[in-house]
Amino acid sequence: MSEADWERLIPKPSSKFLLVVCNECGNRQIVFDSAKTRVKCNVCGSILATPTGGRARITAKVERIYD
Ligand SMILES: [Zn+2]
Repeated sequence: MSEADWERLIPKPSSKFLLVVCNECGNRQIVFDSAKTRVKCNVCGSILATPTGGRARITAKVERIYD
C-alpha cells in the first residue's frame, strides 16, 4: 500500500471547525475546536468555547462539524 493510501486511512488528529449555536441568544458562529483562547459569542458575549490544552471545551450547542 502506498503512503498516500495510509494517509487517507489513518485520520489525522486535525482540528475541526464547528458551527455552534449560542445557548443565550441563538447566534450561530463558527468555532475552531482547538481554540487556544476563550471564544465568545459575537452577539451577547457569552462563552462558547474554553481552551483545555487540547481540544477546546465547547459550551454551546454544536450544530454542525466541518472536517
Ligand atoms: Zn449569544
